[in-house]
Amino acid sequence: MLNLVLFGPPGSGKGTQSEKIIDAYGLTHLSTGDLFRKHLGEGTALGALAKEYMDRGHLVPDEVSIQMVEHKIGSTKDSQGFIFDGFPRTTAQAEALDAMLQKNGMHISGMIALDVPKVILKERILARGKTSGRVDDQEEAKINTRIQVYLDETLPVAAYYEKQGKFHQINGVGKIEEIFNQITELIDGY
Ligand code: AMP
Repeated sequence: MLNLVLFGPPGSGKGTQSEKIIDAYGLTHLSTGDLFRKHLGEGTALGALAKEYMDRGHLVPDEVSIQMVEHKIGSTKDSQGFIFDGFPRTTAQAEALDAMLQKNGMHISGMIALDVPKVILKERILARGKTSGRVDDQEEAKINTRIQVYLDETLPVAAYYEKQGKFHQINGVGKIEEIFNQITELIDGY
């Protein structure tokens, strides 16, 4: 079983590369951002709660995100493995993920981090905002908040996996296909 954490700041291409990895390796996509947006679209209480944080570019509280992931893992049958996209975003989430995987006889195979400079992230998110309809993609101030939240709260997660010898970083700037090739080289070595 292959369980990957695809890591990187907002706009680093996690969603784009996840789709390609899923096609190639048949993994189950677990994007907490997508799950929250699904709840939002369906008008659930969880969606309304998440919106308070998402619209401001802040993180949804750990216990909410962790519970949602636990539910998704528990309700997915016969998976060949998961690709975690946008989760874990805090060290507490990373610890909780290790614990829940262990309970299910699973573990993280590796983390792949996409390295993209801030100026390119902002360009990409603003371009995406023209079609995504996402409130958090539209304003420069919100994008700056999201990048700062990443640096303050999420970056320590890289050190968490580095300590386990599972951290691998690649250049996330370039052609989608070239970036994907670097990813497959890493995955094939897991
Ligand atoms: P994303 O689609 O991954 O960029 O996530 C969009 C927004 O959803 C983030 O800015 C957060 O507000 C929220 N979110 C997504 N994943 C998480 C997570 N693992 N922990 C907390 N908040 C999250």
